[in-house]
This record gives sequence, C-alpha cells and structure tokens, in this order.
Amino acid sequence: MTRRPNSIIGVSVFIACAMLAIAGWVLTQMRHDALRRSQEAAVNVSLLVERDISRNLEIYDLSLQAVADGLRRPGVAELPPDIRQMVLFDGAAFAKDLGSLLVTDATGNVIIDSRYLTPRPVNVADRDYFQIHRDRPDAGLYVSHPFEPRLSDGGTTIALSRRLSRPDGSFAGVVVGTMRVNYFRRLFAGMNLGDNGSMALMLDDGTMLMRRPYDSKVIGRSLKGTANYMRFAQAPSGDFFGTAAIDGVERWYAFRHIAGFPLILDVALATHDIYEEWRWRAWIIGSLMVALDLLIVALAVLFAQQLKRRLAMESELRSLARTDGLTRLCNRRSFDDMAQAEWRREQRSDLPLSLLMIDVDHFKGFNDMYGHSAGDDALAAVAACISEAIRRPDDTAARYGGEEFTVLLPNTPLDGALRIAETIRAAVQALERHHVASVHHVVTVSVGVACTDAQRYATLRAFINAADAALYEAKGGGRNRVAGGPDTAAPDVPVAAAPKISA
Ligand code: GH3
Ligand code: MG
Ligand code: MG
Repeated sequence: MTRRPNSIIGVSVFIACAMLAIAGWVLTQMRHDALRRSQEAAVNVSLLVERDISRNLEIYDLSLQAVADGLRRPGVAELPPDIRQMVLFDGAAFAKDLGSLLVTDATGNVIIDSRYLTPRPVNVADRDYFQIHRDRPDAGLYVSHPFEPRLSDGGTTIALSRRLSRPDGSFAGVVVGTMRVNYFRRLFAGMNLGDNGSMALMLDDGTMLMRRPYDSKVIGRSLKGTANYMRFAQAPSGDFFGTAAIDGVERWYAFRHIAGFPLILDVALATHDIYEEWRWRAWIIGSLMVALDLLIVALAVLFAQQLKRRLAMESELRSLARTDGLTRLCNRRSFDDMAQAEWRREQRSDLPLSLLMIDVDHFKGFNDMYGHSAGDDALAAVAACISEAIRRPDDTAARYGGEEFTVLLPNTPLDGALRIAETIRAAVQALERHHVASVHHVVTVSVGVACTDAQRYATLRAFINAADAALYEAKGGGRNRVAGGPDTAAPDVPVAAAPKISA
C-alpha cells in the first residue's frame, strides 16, 4: 500500500479525468453516428422523392412527345375530332393532379384539348411555357413557373411544354400538359423528416414549386440570391449545414438536381432534431459519469484522510517505541540501533565518533533522601540539560538505564566531546538541585568520554567500555567531573557491568 495519501487523490483524479475523456470520446462518436444516420435517412428520402418525380415527369413528357409525334404525321390534324382525340391521347397519362393536355397554334390559341372534343376558348400566349418555345426552337422540355390556371380551379399548377414545329422548322405552337403542385405536396407529406425537417422542390432558377412545411405564400417565390440557393446551384448534388431563408431554422441540407429536368430538390433535417436523442443520452451519460467521478474522488479523499491519520498514528507509535517515557530522550533500544549505525559509518568514513557516558552522582542517596518521585524529577531535569547541550541534528542523547545517560556525537573529535561533556556537567550543577547526601550538596553528574580519534577500538563494545572506564575514572576522581581521552585508564570494570552491545 502506498505511504503517500496525496498520491491516492492524484490517482483518483487521473482515473476520473480518464473516465471523463472516454465518456467524451464515446459521446462525440455517438454524435457523429446520430448525424450519419440522419444523413443516410435524408439522402434516402431525397432519392425516393427524386425517383417518384422524375418517373412521373418522364411519363408525362412521353405523353407530350406522343402528341407532338402524332401531329407531325400527315393527315392526323385533319381527322375528325373524336378519332384525332383517340390517336393523339391514347396512352396519355391521366393521373390524379395531372390536368389537360393542350395543343395551341402559333398564336397561343388552344386548338386541341385532351378532355374536350371542342377545345375551351383560351389563349396562352402570355404564359412562359408558350413564349419560351416561340422564342427558342431548342428549348426542349420546359417546366413552367407556377401559375393559377384559367380553365380549372384545381389550384396552383405548373406546365410541361414542348414545341411544335412545322416541316420547315418554323413555330407551329406548343403541346402542354399541366400538373397541380398539390402532387408534390402529397408526395412530400408521406416522408418522415422529423418535427422540423423541410423539403423543397424548385426550378433551377430558384423559383419555389413546393415546400414542406407547406405555405401557399412560398409557392412561386424566388430563392435566387439566398445563401442556400447559391450552394444548390453550384453542384449537381451535395450537402451542407445552412439556415433557411424562409424560417431561419438551422438544418442539414441534402440537395440534388433532378436528372433530365430543370428542377432542384432539397431535403433538410433540423440540427435540433438530428441531435435530440443524442442530447438526451449525452445528458444522462454525462451526468452519470460526473456523479461517478465525484464519488471516486470523494472516496479517494476519504481514504487518503484515513490513511493520513493511520500513518500519523503509526509514526507516533514508532517514536513512542523509541523514546524514554520519563526523560523524552531516546530509549536504550533506540540507542543501541543508532550506536550500531554510527559505529559502522565511523568504520567506513574514518570521521571521529565520540561517546559520552553520564551517571548521576550518589543517586541512590538522593532517592533515599528525597524519594523516588523527586528522583524522577531530577532525572528529567538532568535529561533536559543533556538535550540542551547537544545542538547538531545527528547528535543523539539516550537514557542508557537507571540514572545513566549516553550521548553519541558523530563527526566530533575528542576536544569537542570534552567540551560538550563539561557543558552538561556544568549545566546539571547549575540546576542547584539540593542533594545534602552529596559532597557537592547539589545533584551532579560524572561524565566519561571516549573518542575514536584518540584511540582505535576494535569493536563497538570496546568503544563503549572505554567511555565507561572514563566514567569510572571521573567517579574515582571525586565525581562531578569529566574524564576521558588517551590517558584514560584501561577498563578494569567487571565485564558484567559493561553494556550489552556488540559491534
Ligand atoms: P554513584 O555516584 O556511584 O553513581 O552512586 P549511585 O548511588 O548513583 O550509584 P548506583 O548506580 O548504585 O545507584 C543508582 C540508583 O539510581 C539506584 C536507584 O535508586 C536509582 N535509580 C535508577 N533508576 C531510577 C529511576 O528511574 N528513578 C529513580 N527515582 N531512581 C532511579
Ligand atoms: Mg549508576
Ligand atoms: Mg550514579
């Protein structure tokens, strides 16, 4: 398990971000898919409608051509009207929304009418579908602008017309078939385009023939100059995102020019409709992800807090296990470990290592005189003097046992160690803690000093024994003093009294 609680929070934030990134990527893909599906649907609709329109117009055009061909045959024009009617209009399309087939003379007067043996008296010389053929022999099949018919009240109509020519090529009139724009309206109504989809059929000059949603005012209106129309005019087919000039709705447009006819069909799906389902799903997935992410981070924060508390407790316990309860110095076990470590380091580096052995003088007598509790206080006060005397972070003071203390001074030569020992001795004396049983009348300590730069020691035990020997020397010299250095007598203490430490 990690020992760094903050890294748990870091990892959880990373996981949360990764989950968000994955969710974002999936949602983006779903958005693309939504658009692609809509686009496929729109293209399918436009293909279907285009086929229906071009098939019907082709059939209608074939009827016009059949009439034109029939009239070119010698004698047909002179046939009695009922026979001529049969010859010319046999097989002509009479579907719903298709009007009469009319033949005019060169002045625009209707001379043959598919529905009546005697044509209704009307002149169409003012209509665009008449004028175009009169003025341009090569106009071919012409699809007219929408108009209100004069012969019937079937609603707005367009006309398909072809030129009739005399054998010398001069203009003889037109053959024209009418078709109510209602046909397109019904065709459009059958298609599924979503709530705000639109669909339009226009002449290639931009004149609107039919639009869904239906609005009679739009029929015949010219879209020329609008941004959308300009894009329709640029290519035979295509698609783009655009905003309708008519209703201002943003849509995705698929358009195509209907092959063989001067017509443009566009099918458009509202951007809002395309992404509606996606938006709903994105909202659900997005909020679930955010909730999950928050949960993960919150759990990680909780876990990190618990871990922090536990680590603090562990470190507290560890430090308690290494500390002497009475004096707050290191305890014996901790001292043994540190002495081992410093000894090894000294062996490697050859830097001087010093050791002080401190023993309170006549302490048994102090206890006897003032009681154990006062004795404990005195030990704590001596420990405080020792702590204050050592300044460097590597220096270690420990309670060695009973009223004995040690100080380990890495990288400290003998003279430095003697100075610190003297500082401690003087500080304890300066406490002026009464001790009537002592010749000094106050609590004092004796200090033995050993240093590896003064003498080489074969083992850590020998080194500690040297400090102990120095302590005995100090005791022997009258107590309340420091002893140590090269002149210190060899240890003559019993082995049992030596510390149980081996290098
Ligand atoms: P010397 O000057 O030779 O060291 O005389 P001393 O009386 O100090 O000698 P000794 O080592 O025989 O006595 C140590 C005494 O320290 C024994 C005990 O009464 C006392 N002592 C040891 N540990 C504690 C402690 O934790 N609390 C108290 N109050 N006294 C302790
Ligand atoms: Mg002692
Ligand atoms: Mg003592």
